[in-house]
Amino acid sequence: MNLRSRLADIDARISDAARAAGRDSSELTRIVVTKFHPVDLVEELAALGVTDVGENRQQEATAKRAAYGDGPLRWHFIGQAQTNKARAIRAVADVVHSVDRVRLADALHAAAPEGDAEPLDVLLQVNLTTDTGRGGVAPVDVEALAQHVRAQCPSLRLRGVMGVAPLDEAPASAFARLAESSAVVRGVDPDATWISAGMTGDFVEAIAAGATHLRIGSAITGPRPTHG
Ligand SMILES: *Cc1c(COP(=O)(O)O)cnc(C)c1O
Repeated sequence: MNLRSRLADIDARISDAARAAGRDSSELTRIVVTKFHPVDLVEELAALGVTDVGENRQQEATAKRAAYGDGPLRWHFIGQAQTNKARAIRAVADVVHSVDRVRLADALHAAAPEGDAEPLDVLLQVNLTTDTGRGGVAPVDVEALAQHVRAQCPSLRLRGVMGVAPLDEAPASAFARLAESSAVVRGVDPDATWISAGMTGDFVEAIAAGATHLRIGSAITGPRPTHG
């Protein structure tokens, strides 16, 4: 299968999963994760009508976005973010999915360009594993982080939550916990309704659990080159 047919195939499976879950697929944003792939792939995807791409490394995203230019494409930053890269991340991303601590929220807020009225869309990444070394805020700390972003970071627009299902658990139960964190965040800000969940292996379960933003890579792009 070529890129066009893989994309069409995934979109058909997304529609089927939405229908099965009693949802409208127009509620879903399909982000194509292009990490490790060259900018040519981004250009091919855009030519096929893709509007949203995801990258997980700042340097790669910055280089690719510069090479791509200023076409109408939304760039989602989905990787671990270092506070000392906040300015570069803010410059490259339209949406940051991986805000998981106060220091990072503060750094992204401080990186707002002077006089820029446009807030940066952010999601709080929730750690769905029991390994505290993994990315994401612990579920018990989600509410405090949401309140911090709302109260202290006016240049950030809190949009919702993001999660990655652990490998050693059924995705449905992990995504059910993410839905609980989503409810907590909506308690802080009723407009923060986005749920970023679902990858190649588990987007059907994510749709059933209420995901609004799917981050799908290899099923669309084919296998990733082993280094970028
Ligand atoms: C790489 C990545 C994806 C996409 O993974 P696939 O299994 O290729 O669909 C989604 N989310 C995050 C956070 C990633 O790093």
